[in-house]
Amino acid sequence: MPLNYYLCSQNTQKIMYRTKTCGELRIENLNEKVVLAGWVQKSRKFGGMLFVDLRDRYGITQLVFNREINAALQDSAEQLGREWVIQVQGVVTERENKNPNLATGDVEIIVSELQVLNPAETPPFTIEDESDGGDDIRMKYRYLDLRRNPVKRNLELRHQMAFAVRQYLNERHFLEVETPVLVSSTPEGARDFVVPSRLHQGHFYALPQSPQLFKQLLMVSGFDRYFQIVKCFRDEDLRADRQPEFTQIDCEMSFIEQEDVLHLFEGLIKYLFKTIKNIDIPALPRMPYSDAMRLYGSDKPDTRFGMTFVELKDLTQGKGFGVFDNAEYVGAICVKGCAGYTRKQLDELTEFVRRPQIGAAGLIYLRYEQDGALKSSVDKFYSQDDLQKWADRAEMKSGDLLLVLCGSTEKTQKQLGELRLEMGARLGLRDKNRFSCLWVVDFPLLEYDEEAGRFFAKHHPFTSPKPEDIPLLDSRPADVRANAYDMVINGVEVGGGSIRIHNSDLQKKMFTTLGFTAEQAQAQFGFLMNAFKYGAPPHGGIAFGLDRLVSLFAGLDSIRDCIAFPKNNAGKDVMIDAPSPISKEQMDELHLAFSAEQQNQ
Ligand code: ASP
Repeated sequence: MPLNYYLCSQNTQKIMYRTKTCGELRIENLNEKVVLAGWVQKSRKFGGMLFVDLRDRYGITQLVFNREINAALQDSAEQLGREWVIQVQGVVTERENKNPNLATGDVEIIVSELQVLNPAETPPFTIEDESDGGDDIRMKYRYLDLRRNPVKRNLELRHQMAFAVRQYLNERHFLEVETPVLVSSTPEGARDFVVPSRLHQGHFYALPQSPQLFKQLLMVSGFDRYFQIVKCFRDEDLRADRQPEFTQIDCEMSFIEQEDVLHLFEGLIKYLFKTIKNIDIPALPRMPYSDAMRLYGSDKPDTRFGMTFVELKDLTQGKGFGVFDNAEYVGAICVKGCAGYTRKQLDELTEFVRRPQIGAAGLIYLRYEQDGALKSSVDKFYSQDDLQKWADRAEMKSGDLLLVLCGSTEKTQKQLGELRLEMGARLGLRDKNRFSCLWVVDFPLLEYDEEAGRFFAKHHPFTSPKPEDIPLLDSRPADVRANAYDMVINGVEVGGGSIRIHNSDLQKKMFTTLGFTAEQAQAQFGFLMNAFKYGAPPHGGIAFGLDRLVSLFAGLDSIRDCIAFPKNNAGKDVMIDAPSPISKEQMDELHLAFSAEQQNQ
């Protein structure tokens, strides 16, 4: 249905506010009489003529006022300021100076009537693709920022993606079911946002970190294919790809195995790439978690480029270099064509790995120079023959640079992973317009936390162990693998899920392994274990981060840019001033203590 159908009153066809949008007029519309409404982007005078760019959601159309034709009209038009809301009537005419950068650039409107619908104050920043406003001011006036094309386009993309997801899942019999937003706090997982209860003193609701338990209960109810595009809340430290509230495409299915889930959701991602970006994504490779850590030092490897790890421990051992001798792990990456790195560049990289966020003690290098010589920062300890062995293992060619880190295995692999990403970025290997998707599978079920002195679920406590590993739960819990999987695109975890435990005894055992007493497990998750007694089907699912997916598709650096009203880096909405203090009366009503400091305010 063309939009202008809706722009007219459907019964009378009487012209309403507008007959066309500011984005649709073309040369084919010449001589048509039209009514447009929108915002004044800018105006400029040129001799006896006044040109005004009129903008709405769909584009910009040039309006022309001609003093010779109507002086009074031009006088009114000269009063128009930026962002005034106006309505005009006029005739579509061919432009003398066409603007090839504008979809409507072949035409302009010779205006015969002008009505100001609402004047506007001068906006605090320019509403243009390249705005003069900084981040803070644009966040404070987000509703104005949203008028700008780059931000608006991201929201349009988000809509298209959410719509395509619904289409794909609906065609496959998924049912969208809403689950509650006021739930109860659970101890596992991230920190909860809580909401005090007025009616039940000292009791709190929590906002859901995900609808995990509800979707599993829906499987017990027999809904067999569920999804929901749903807000989730986690009170975690903020990063560029995190928001305290974010949106998941949450899915669950019954009578399926891991293979079914991977197949169906690989289909979803391919469908999105095809319909939204016209990109054909090849079958997603599957990488076991252990390989991801061994080769990339990350469970979300960026596979747009190689530079995989080379282990050198055996080759470096026993030559008198204590740092390597004492290290559990010695690993390297071969950086193509960087043997010419200067002292300064190498120092920069050393600084990079030493930053507290990365925490390496130092960086060792080996240059394979153009003339075939091997030069390293540890020449003292290693002969040319020794170094040649490193170079051979790393498949170095002349002109390449080897960067080596050492230490405890897991930590060093993670550090080397960061260095790999940094080198990838420096060499331009992380192209935003290329997409490399994969599944990471066979995650460990449990993760030991030194500080807490116990195991935590790596994914969540409802994830099922691989059946063949169940016997290890008592003897070697760290070696138990889970039926869990993540989808990774360009080094971003865009989705993750698992096959669930559907047997109440195994679920009980899992809670015991996690250090819950029977009473604690009963109190926190009794309803789930109880539900499992009434015929729970085998089930599993996945959740995708919609914000992350959209920002990947849009090539954004931060998920904030694809959210209409995001929180800033400090978790605040500076436009509505949230979070904010509440009154003493509200605090009393909620049975919350009022601090002395607040009382003095
Ligand atoms: N609820 C999980 C999460 O939010 C996803 C899943 O297992 O389906 O990470």
